[in-house]
Amino acid sequence: MTKYHTIVVGGGPAGMMAAGQAAGLGANTVLLEKETAPGRKLRITGKGRCNLTNIAPLPEFIEHFGENGRFLRQAFNKFFSPDLVDFLKEMEVTIMTERGGRVFPENEDAQAVTDAMIQWVKLQGVSIRTKSPVGKLLVDHDSIMGVRIGDNELHADTVIIATGGMSYPATGSTGDGYRLAQSVGHTVVPVRPALVPLITAGSVAPRLQGLSLKNIRVRVYIDGKKRLEDFGEMLFTHFGLSGPIILTLSGAIVDAMREKKNVSLSIDLKPALDESKLDARLLRDLDTYGKRQFHTLLKGLLPKKLIPVCCDLIGISSEKINNQISAAERRKLRAWLKDFRFDINGHRQIKEAIVTAGGVDIREVNPRTMESLLIKGLFFAGEVLDVNGDTGGYNLQAAFSTGWLAGQSAVHLKKR
Ligand SMILES: Cc1cc2nc3c(=O)[nH]c(=O)nc-3n(C[C@H](O)[C@H](O)[C@H](O)COP(=O)(O)OP(=O)(O)OC[C@H]3O[C@@H](n4cnc5c(N)ncnc54)[C@H](O)[C@@H]3O)c2cc1C
Repeated sequence: MTKYHTIVVGGGPAGMMAAGQAAGLGANTVLLEKETAPGRKLRITGKGRCNLTNIAPLPEFIEHFGENGRFLRQAFNKFFSPDLVDFLKEMEVTIMTERGGRVFPENEDAQAVTDAMIQWVKLQGVSIRTKSPVGKLLVDHDSIMGVRIGDNELHADTVIIATGGMSYPATGSTGDGYRLAQSVGHTVVPVRPALVPLITAGSVAPRLQGLSLKNIRVRVYIDGKKRLEDFGEMLFTHFGLSGPIILTLSGAIVDAMREKKNVSLSIDLKPALDESKLDARLLRDLDTYGKRQFHTLLKGLLPKKLIPVCCDLIGISSEKINNQISAAERRKLRAWLKDFRFDINGHRQIKEAIVTAGGVDIREVNPRTMESLLIKGLFFAGEVLDVNGDTGGYNLQAAFSTGWLAGQSAVHLKKR
């Protein structure tokens, strides 16, 4: 039976990077992927455009992962966004940077990135085996010995688990890595959705389905206290709220709801104007358009779809003549523009989340090597670890960086 130096379990960005690094350094490496091809999730990233990374400097980059971000420092020190960009250039994937420092391939084609990555893995000499779901880890006296696929055993000096999280299970990420890690004694921090759309109470959000709001501020209230805020873009859906800033705020909201806390969300539709400036603007508009109907004034303030909703919520007829709007009604409009509220009832399921929060406890993994502190020769990379970042290219960079480090470390581990 062939004995490999390195077995990589899972052919996502983390696993492909790990396998390519190990093989590139001369290790006899096999990549085991349970689907018919590696990189299924990578193909759909960034709405098919693949937000590869972000140009944020390291300290800021790490902040986008919350408390556990510190664990990634060593991996990022070794292989960070400029290294990824150089790496991609060598594969003839040229990049461009967009608003918010988000880095995309110039051809905006996640499929092409995935194909280039698979090609690179092959060129490094990795043997890729698809339709190979690993069901068990083989361990002897706290050392990894190999893996089992059905009735077949594969033996190796090192095994890298890069099985991803639990979101979008049709791509192959079904949480197998958590079970494999637990079976050899690792703790798995409870998994839950992160970067997930939110479900709102009432019928207002569904009425606005499809409407996207840009340059707005969202504030999150947990048990009545303001806890978080963000600025940017959001989207109304048939069940509630989605879009970049909602997804970014969702992790903390999911956690609060797990603790049975009340969550409400306030949209500031005019964040550039404080109350007095907004009031001055409304007074001016009411004066200028005094003889026209209220909805014509709102046209200058709101997207069309929002106008009837605004009128209903503040209780002013859209046909009311502007010079008949009272001071109290003006104050009501002003308050609503700064605080358009939604009670949050829940969140969509993990299968619809962009990433999974929770995972293999990072206190049991060496951040300098990605090696397990419990089982010699066992490594972890990518989303299977308890690290998850905001939208903006942070998660793919984490997968590539931890994959890079695990692949390199697996080779440098002294052969048994
Ligand atoms: C719709 C969507 C869009 C996204 N867009 C972006 C984006 O633009 N930018 C960004 O930074 N992040 C994005 N993400 C997140 C990013 O895709 C993931 O964080 C990243 O793919 C994680 O990489 P990974 O290699 O750890 O795991 P995955 O990509 O999930 O790969 C894991 C692989 O392991 C395989 N596998 C699982 N179990 C087994 C087993 N038992 N045996 C063998 N193989 C197994 C799976 O089939 C899969 O191929 C997006 C996610 C989604 C769902």
